[in-house]
Order: sequence, then C-alpha cells, then structure tokens
Amino acid sequence: MKPLSKLLNKFCGKMIMLLASLLIELIILIQKLRESRPISTRQYLKLIEKKNPTICYTKRLNLKAEHAATATECRVCLSEFEEGEKVRKLKCQHTFHRDCLDKWLQQYWATCPLCRKQVLPDDVVFKHRLHQNQAEAASNNGNDDNLLYLFSAFRGGNT
Ligand SMILES: [Zn+2]
Ligand SMILES: [Zn+2]
Repeated sequence: MKPLSKLLNKFCGKMIMLLASLLIELIILIQKLRESRPISTRQYLKLIEKKNPTICYTKRLNLKAEHAATATECRVCLSEFEEGEKVRKLKCQHTFHRDCLDKWLQQYWATCPLCRKQVLPDDVVFKHRLHQNQAEAASNNGNDDNLLYLFSAFRGGNT
C-alpha cells in the first residue's frame, strides 16, 4: 500500500501546485484589469504637463532652439509665437502652443505633430482612448441625432 499512498501524495502535491499557479494567474489578471481603468481627460492633460511643462514663450527661447524655423511658429495652427504666449517644448525640441498641442494629443496619437516622436507612453494613450470611447458611448445613448439625421435624409429624398 505504501507506493500507492506515495503516488497519491505526489498527485495531491501537483494538484495544489496547479491550483496555486491558477490562483496567482487569476490575481495577476484581476490586477491587469484594474490597471487598465480609463484615464480621464483631466488626468491625461496632467500627465502631459508633467512630462512637458508649460513655458512662456520668449524670443530668447528660439535662439536656443536647434531648428530656428520650427521654433518661431506653431506648426499646428501655423501662426507665429508671440512674446509671453503659453507654449510647450517637447523632448524633440519642437515647440507648440500649449492649447494647440493639447488638442492634438487628445485627438490623434500622442506623438509630436512634426516629427512623430512619442510624447506619452502607449498605455496612457490607450487608457485615455478608453475613457473617450466610454464618454462617447454615454453621450450617444442620451440623444437621437442619428435618428433625426436618417429622418431628414428620408424626407429630403422624397421631395
Ligand atoms: Zn498654435
Ligand atoms: Zn518633434
């Protein structure tokens, strides 16, 4: 009977190991799900600010810049910087109006509008997209613009 009980012991040991590893995987999965909670636009803007603090534009700033041509105007709105305007200078040395850049980073992927260098990590962008999608879905539930559009298109087709 001894070998059998040994075998059973071994089997039980393996089962416990298996269950334990399953449990650990489950915990990791739950943690991952928790981590991928959406980031609100306010948090997202805070992260941008942390990485690329707002500065006031001065003529001195563009003397220091390597690419003088891209340092005198914001390439998002194509207007020249004026003394004292709030701008952000990215790690790639490209400078934009703070508001122009923030809008850009919210609408498109979080990369420099000029050289496409990454401004924020992918997971931050992903989590913010998640929030935007949820907000969009919530606002779509509240109105029936689509239905109205269909209705007016239908009426337009009739006349
Ligand atoms: Zn601008
Ligand atoms: Zn750049």
